[in-house]
Amino acid sequence: MTQGALSAFIGPSDLHLHSNHSDGTETPAEVVRQAHAHGVRTLALTDHDRTTGWEEAGDAAVALGMTFLPGIEFSARHDWRSVHVLGYLFDPDDAALRSETERIRRDRIGRAERIVRSIAHDYDLTWDDVLAQTLRGATVGRPHIADALVARGIVADRTEAFAGILHPRAGYYEPHYAPDPLTAVRLITRAGGVAVIAHPATSGRDRMMPVPYLERLIAEGLGGLEIDHRENTADGRRLLHEIAARNDLIITGSSDYHGAGKPNLPGENTTSDEMVARIIERATGTAPRRP
Ligand code: AMP
Ligand code: FE
Ligand code: FE
Ligand code: ZN
Repeated sequence: MTQGALSAFIGPSDLHLHSNHSDGTETPAEVVRQAHAHGVRTLALTDHDRTTGWEEAGDAAVALGMTFLPGIEFSARHDWRSVHVLGYLFDPDDAALRSETERIRRDRIGRAERIVRSIAHDYDLTWDDVLAQTLRGATVGRPHIADALVARGIVADRTEAFAGILHPRAGYYEPHYAPDPLTAVRLITRAGGVAVIAHPATSGRDRMMPVPYLERLIAEGLGGLEIDHRENTADGRRLLHEIAARNDLIITGSSDYHGAGKPNLPGENTTSDEMVARIIERATGTAPRRP
């Protein structure tokens, strides 16, 4: 395919990585260097509910000759299901989008404190332990509580924490405020961005939302589906491919890298040049950073 000057970039492209501005363990610049070391040449930083890592990541990417796509991962919820909505190339100053992400982040703090208070009935853990694991201003979540449990010697790593104490079945879980996915899709789209459902077909509690609801999101401007993600099931991927083909959706593949917080490695899944070009050409909110 031919790429217009508008969308010039080089692959491989990994469009879903986290820094310590949310629940990754590395600074935005370190994330970019790790992605480069793993062969990635175009990347998006998609911290949960936050855009403060863009500048540092963009500078690091440009210095390494990479293309940087600003992104976010919105924490939404449909019924009881946690649904993550990726947004790319939207205007970070859009007032409606900003106020919604601020609301989510603010509520996440009280929610994390409630979880810690509940855990503290049974384990030696304090809110200060969690603050010690959280970069000031970062979007706080269960991964930071996991890191505090590790620092206290209560569990070995995040994986063990999520399988045990932090699992909803353990009894300490609390939800946080989250908009419905339709709201997240609208906010991203109206801010000139491209909305993509992250890992739509995981197994377990957050398994795939009903197809009619997904079709409503598509009707409201959803741009794509993240199909190549290690947590999507084989059956789910087949269904997502059918839905994407039927609706001419963008399909992406990404690592969901969280530094040392998860086994996922940059570039373990990638997005085709054609699909990256479609994202860039569709977006109007902000431009990619290029070398
Ligand atoms: P929260 O949004 O605070 O409920 O926490 C969810 C976050 O925890 C997700 O964004 C994941 O990055 C992370 N997470 C979920 N499961 C695991 C796991 N098994 N190991 C490490 N991190 C996880
Ligand atoms: Fe995360
Ligand atoms: Fe996610
Ligand atoms: Zn993610």
